[in-house]
This record gives sequence, C-alpha cells and structure tokens, in this order.
Amino acid sequence: MTARWPQFEPALGRATEHTREWLEALHDRPVHPKSRELAFGGPLPDGPTDPALVVDELAAGIEPGLMSMPSGRFFGWVIGGSHPAALAADWLTAAWDQNSAMRYATPGTVAVEDAAGAWLLDLLGLPTTADVGFVTGATMANFTGLAAARQQVLADAGWDVNRDGLSGAPRVRVLVGEERHGTLDLALRYLGLGVPQAVAADAQGRLVVDDLARALGDGSGPTIVCLQAGNLHSGAFDPIADAVEVAHAHGAWVHVDGAFGLWAAASPRLRDLVRGLEGADSWATDAHKTLNVPYDCGVAIVARPESLRRAFGMQAEYFAAFADEGDPQEKVPELSRRARGVPVWAALRSLGRSGVADLVDRLALRARQIADGLAGIEGAEILNDVVFTQVSVAFGSDERTRRVGEALIADGGTWMSGSHWQGRDILRVSVSNWSTDEEDVARSIEAVRRAVSAAG
Ligand SMILES: *Cc1c(COP(=O)(O)O)cnc(C)c1O
Repeated sequence: MTARWPQFEPALGRATEHTREWLEALHDRPVHPKSRELAFGGPLPDGPTDPALVVDELAAGIEPGLMSMPSGRFFGWVIGGSHPAALAADWLTAAWDQNSAMRYATPGTVAVEDAAGAWLLDLLGLPTTADVGFVTGATMANFTGLAAARQQVLADAGWDVNRDGLSGAPRVRVLVGEERHGTLDLALRYLGLGVPQAVAADAQGRLVVDDLARALGDGSGPTIVCLQAGNLHSGAFDPIADAVEVAHAHGAWVHVDGAFGLWAAASPRLRDLVRGLEGADSWATDAHKTLNVPYDCGVAIVARPESLRRAFGMQAEYFAAFADEGDPQEKVPELSRRARGVPVWAALRSLGRSGVADLVDRLALRARQIADGLAGIEGAEILNDVVFTQVSVAFGSDERTRRVGEALIADGGTWMSGSHWQGRDILRVSVSNWSTDEEDVARSIEAVRRAVSAAG
C-alpha cells in the first residue's frame, strides 16, 4: 500500500485554494446566483480523471451558480454562515471519516459529541440529564423529539407503539400554534400523527395560552403540545412558561421547536424570552442556523432518555435502566452517520459562553439596526415587534412589495426573502450570520433604497 498523503495532497491543496477564493469573493460578489445555466451534465465520463483536476473543474463550473449564503449581506430564509473553527472542524470530520453510531467503535468523535451535548445543555439551561442527539437539521430534530413524545404518551395510555404500531392505537392529539413552522407538520406526517389541531396565535404569531387551555379541556387521551421559540416572520416566542404549565396540568408532553430561537437562552439579555423553557419535555434546534456551523447540523434534546432510546434504539425491548450514556445511534434516526457534533464542539470551544451570548445579542442588534434603516425608507412599514433576529417589512400594496422584492434580488446587494404573513405579502429579513457587521447593514439598506426607486 502506498503512502496516503501524496494521493490526497494535490486535490486537498486545490480545495483549500478554492475555499480561499470563495471566502474572499464574498465581500463583493453579488448575493444572488449569477447564473442558473451551469456547465454540468453531459455523458458520464468513460474513464478516470485526476482528482485535482476534478476539484478545479467543480469549483470553476459551480461558481456562477453559487448563492452568497455565507455573506454578511444574506438575510434569506433562516440561514447561518460558518464560523471559522466550525468550518475547519467540519473538514477534519470529513477527513477522519468516523461512522459515529457506536461509542465502542469511535470513542474520539463520541467523546467530542458528548462534550458538545453537555455544553449545549448548560448554555441553553436545559436539564443536565437530558439526552442530546445530532441530526441533520431542525426538521429531523422535531421528528426525533416527537417520536419520543409519541412513544411516551402512548405508553402512558397502555399502548406499545414499538410492538403494535399505530393501527388500533388510541388517537394522539397534537396541539400546535397556528403559526408553527411547516416542518412540524412534516414531522408529524412522518410519524403517522396526521394534521395537528391549531391553537390561535396573536398579532405577533404567539400561541394564545387561553385558547390552548380551552382546546386541552375539550378533549382527552394521549396529547402532545408543540410550542415555538422564534417565529419565522416576527421572531416572537410562544409564552413558554404558561403554556408548559397548562399542558402538563393536562398530562401532555411538551415539545419546543426552537430551530433558531432556542439560542435566546444562551444570552443573559434575551433569556427572558424563553422563560420556563427547561420545563418542557423535548426541544429541537439547529446548529447550522444561529450557531453558524456548516450544514447539516440539528440538535434533538429529550428530557427523558428512556423515551428517546425506546423510540430509536435497535434493541427497543431492552428496557434496562438507561443509566449509561448510551450509543449515539440510540438517540437519532440514523445508524451510520458523520460526526456532525464535532463542528458544534469547535464552535462552542472557540466562542465560549460569552462568545455565544455576544453572537446571539449581535444578531438581534443587527436586526434592530436593519429595521431602523428600513423604517427610514419612504413607504416602508415594519410589521413586527423586532424582539430577536427577524424583521418583516412591506412597501405599500402586495403588488408593490413584490416589485421591490424582485428589484432587490436583481440588484444583488443583499438578499431578503419574499413571504406572506398575516394576510400580506412581505419581505423578510433573518439575521443569522455571525459576520454581519455595520457595513453589511448599511450596504444592504442602500440596496433596498435602490430597489424601492427601481420599483417606482
Ligand atoms: C428552519 C426551521 C425549521 C426547519 O429546520 P431545518 O434545519 O431546515 O430542517 C423548523 N422550525 C423553525 C422555526 C425553523 O426556523
């Protein structure tokens, strides 16, 4: 067997060089993709090509089709950038290539993920005895938490879903706020729980606790309540403490979707937004949003390890004490997977407690600055209370708002997502990138001014 490094070095060297070019280009590159006509495809090559040449061809061919998502001027959907320590750790994770399903097989990556999990529980103020699983994103983190919930509420009703499935099971009631994220519905669909029952939301999109109490009182049987920390459009938080109290009084399991909003708990200034969070039973969040680790990385946290491990462990009938740390594969849907918790460890190790708090505070501050800048533009209306990282803005009629959105995307100076909220077409800003600075804010507001002029 020949030495390995000489076989890898040319391709990895080229990859490092292309990475440097990409990161440098982000400062001035238009935010939108430059082209949607890309030179890939054609017939499958008949034979091999040198790996370094493949890397060059890939980087050159894809460049026009890349969105400047890691740019400080990108505010679309809810999309984080990559913190330097996290990106470097992600590269190493790929190089180490550890299939991190079992503690015995990959003690290194499992120890790092254990440490990352414990730090997350500490930072977010969640029970230290909770189980943490690293999944692909918040969709799967919601799925994971809700699978544990389904397992437990049915067990409490005397039904073993592992053995008997859902056919003939008592119906599981799932109550959600009217403005929950659509992926919660997806997760419930994957779990065979059907369409959830919506509880009213207020003008900021927060679940109304009186309505939840009424809905809980109107039914019975196994029940799951889903709360939201961080509304996509307003950034608002459901009143978690009150909702948990009401839900638990009715014996319900409480799951919190905090894909980006859970991170408010890591900031002493913003922590009050998630008051009562630790009282829930399961939580979903993303590391690839607010924490700025590369895709794909979500985190599922479940207060009762036995519920989670019964849902996902391969020896589901093994009902021992669950006192040990368990294997990673008992806490997530996947068996084989990359060690996606390693970049989380690196981000947390690099930022420290104060660095994470600063990161979250700064995102919220930039959102405030963007809202103030937009409010100074003729005809702009800020539609939400800017309490966190999200800003929703309209420019008069739906038709005009859409024209401004199109002009803005064509301009390329920034990217804000078109959306529809509470009956209106809007543009939505999500500040989720650690690198967004005041210059990015100023340049983005200028781009919106140009788009408003262009839209007439
Ligand atoms: C982004 C988001 C999700 C889905 O997360 P993915 O990481 O895209 O799977 C779920 N809930 C909320 C509130 C979100 O913002």
